Amino acid sequence: MRMIDIIIKKRNGEALSEEEISFVVDGYVKGDIPDYQMSALLMAIYFRGMNIEETITLTKKMAYSGKVLDLSSIPGIKVDKHSTGGVGDKTTLIFAPLVASMGYPVAKMSGRSLGHTGGTIDKLESIPGFKTSMKDEEFIKQVKEIGIAIVGQTEDLVPADKKIYALRDVTGTVDSIPLIASSVMSKKIASGSDVIILDVKVGRGAFIKDINSAKELARIMVGIGKGFGRKIVAVLSQMDQPLGFAIGNSLEVMEAIETLKGRGPKDLNELIVTLATETLRLININYKNEDIRAKVMEQLSNGKALAKFKEMIKTQGGDVKIVDDYSPLLSAKIQKEIYSLEGGYVEDIDAYKVALSVMALGAGREKKEDKIDLSVGIRLYKKIGDKIEKNEPIVTFYANDVEKLKRAQEIFREAIKIGNKKKDPLPIVLDVIS
Ligand code: URA
Repeated sequence: MRMIDIIIKKRNGEALSEEEISFVVDGYVKGDIPDYQMSALLMAIYFRGMNIEETITLTKKMAYSGKVLDLSSIPGIKVDKHSTGGVGDKTTLIFAPLVASMGYPVAKMSGRSLGHTGGTIDKLESIPGFKTSMKDEEFIKQVKEIGIAIVGQTEDLVPADKKIYALRDVTGTVDSIPLIASSVMSKKIASGSDVIILDVKVGRGAFIKDINSAKELARIMVGIGKGFGRKIVAVLSQMDQPLGFAIGNSLEVMEAIETLKGRGPKDLNELIVTLATETLRLININYKNEDIRAKVMEQLSNGKALAKFKEMIKTQGGDVKIVDDYSPLLSAKIQKEIYSLEGGYVEDIDAYKVALSVMALGAGREKKEDKIDLSVGIRLYKKIGDKIEKNEPIVTFYANDVEKLKRAQEIFREAIKIGNKKKDPLPIVLDVIS
C-alpha cells in the first residue's frame, strides 16, 4: 500500500477502506508517513469528508493506537465529559466535582489550550501546587478514594490524536466534522468511562459555527459512543459570546469557585445544571427530569460540590486556601478598567475576538510547547442584551506587559458593540441529542 494512492483516492472523493485507514494511522504514529503527506490527506478529508463507516473506523484505529484505560477496578458508574472547545469555558471545573459529589466517580483526562480555545489543565495549573500529571495507577487510585481526578492526558493514551491534532492545528484542518468526531471520541473510548457527556459548542468562538453542522457532529459522536457500548448524550451550547464573565486561566478558576459557591453567572449556571441533569438522566433512567434538575441545583448551592472540589485540590497537591482567598489568582501586575463612553445596550460581544484579545495579553499558545501567562485575562461586566450607562465599567484587563495590554485593548474594541437596540441573547442550551 502507498500513502500517495490513499491521498489521491480521498482527493477524488472516494471512501477509504479499513485497511487503508489502518495503514495511515499506524504509519503516521510510527513515523513512517511524513507530515507533508499526512497534511495532504487531512486537507483532502477536510474538503471531501468521510462517510460514517470511515469515521467509525478512524475513531477505532485512533482509540487503539496506544494504551486503553481499564477503569473496571473503580466501583460504580464512571463519568467522563468533553467540550469541543470554547472561550471562557470553565465548565469541567464545576461539572466534575458536582457529579462526583453526587456519588458518581469522574475520571477525567483533559487538554491544554491550543489556538483560541482554552484548556482545563492550564486553568488548574493556575492553582499553586496543583499537580496535573500522574501515572495511570495513581489516577485510578485517586478516583477510587475520593471519586474524582482531573489530569492531563498521559503520553501513551491515543498517541494518534496527539500527532494528528498538532498537525491539524497548523494546517487549517481543525474544523472538519469527521476529524473532530474521531479526535474527541477516540479519547473518550480510550479513557474507559461508562457514561460520556459531550458539550458541543456552536458559534463564533467555537470550531463549528452553525447549528446544523453542530447537530450533525453531535449525532455522529453519539452514534459512535453507542456503537462502543457507552451511555452518551450531547448538549449543544451557544458560543457566540464568551461563557460567563471571566476569560483567562486564573480568572476562570475564580469564576468556577464562585459558581460552586452558588454565585455563578446565569449562562454558566444553566449550562452546568443541564449537563449534570442529562448525566444523571442517563444513569438513573427512571427519574423524572424535574426531580433530577432540582436535585442538581440543590447540590450546587449546598456546598457539597465545593467541598469535593477542595478535596480534589488537596489530594492533587494544590493550595486549598485559594477557595477562600483569591489573591494568588490575582497576581497580574496591571489591572485596567475600561468604561463605556455612551449609554445604551450591549448589542454584541464576539467570543472569537475576545479570545484573540486574551491571547494578545499572553494567555495564548501558538505551539504546544509554548509557555503561557496564567495570570492574564479579561473580566467582563456585561453580556449581550444588558443595559449599560455612560461611564459604567465594561471590562477589566489583567495584564503583565504594557505593550501587550495596548494590543489587547485594540482587539477588544472590535469585539464589543454598544448601541440603542436591546437584543435578546441566544439561549445557552440550544439542543440535547441522545
Ligand atoms: N476537541 C478535540 O478534542 N478534538 C478536536 O478535533 C476538536 C476539539
